[in-house]
Amino acid sequence: MNPRTISATFKMKDVMEGAGVLLKRGFSNVEAGLFDPFLLFDDFSSNIPEHYQAGFPWHPHRGMETVTYILDGAVRHKDSLGNEGVIESGALQWMTAGSGIIHEEMPESVHGIRGFQLWVNLPKANKMDKPRYQDLVGKSVPETSLGSNARVKIVAGSLANVTGPLESIAGSPLYADITLEAYGSVSIPVPDGHTVFAYVIEGALGLDDGKDVFYAPGTILLFNKNGTEANLRAPIAGARFLLIAGAPLNEPIAWHGPIVMNTNEELQEAFSDLDRGTFIRP
Ligand code: MN
Repeated sequence: MNPRTISATFKMKDVMEGAGVLLKRGFSNVEAGLFDPFLLFDDFSSNIPEHYQAGFPWHPHRGMETVTYILDGAVRHKDSLGNEGVIESGALQWMTAGSGIIHEEMPESVHGIRGFQLWVNLPKANKMDKPRYQDLVGKSVPETSLGSNARVKIVAGSLANVTGPLESIAGSPLYADITLEAYGSVSIPVPDGHTVFAYVIEGALGLDDGKDVFYAPGTILLFNKNGTEANLRAPIAGARFLLIAGAPLNEPIAWHGPIVMNTNEELQEAFSDLDRGTFIRP
């Protein structure tokens, strides 16, 4: 086996988004090349309703996917296709915008919220596919053990012969929510060449390499591309973290706001579609 090493770490930074939501952003435009096929990662957790209640009113998406995972609280979702629902504690929505949707995402909880949004790029061949939603509402997120002291919730992809409920997503992503007990360690198999990163939610997390270097909540650990396992461990505090992996697309990116295409011409087409009211394809 060939263990992954860490290539870089990123501290979350405060960003104002939507109609005035104060959130923490791990990476975006500037770093997206390093995280291919992932475009952006936000943590919108806060105990202060004024930080999130303004929400994300009507806005378009094309050419990419958004993955919203709620640990606590609720986000009401409504879109141009007539879909409406609430993403609640423990639930996840994997939204494939494809050729285009216009939606709003409004956090509803009055006692704080904990959740994340990941943006995933779509391959050129799928950017103009029909929009599609996969929700975990009413489905169960399978939970299993990995080794002797890790519990894993598998949202997408497979670990320990358990497959998450989300299907046929571009890039064969792995999205897992992993809890390590005090001094626990885990070896996570990952495909060689895939982009892999971990996001520390609670406790502290480091490589299981005997060096005792641990990273605090709000840190992204980006792994080098080569290697077939990510070996991680926790100190006495234990750890809860997301482990996210996917196949790089290695395609050009033309990105403006919530629209991510391959060329500037495609971006201009998207914005003139918005102007002309032809953004939503029949
Ligand atoms: Mn959105």
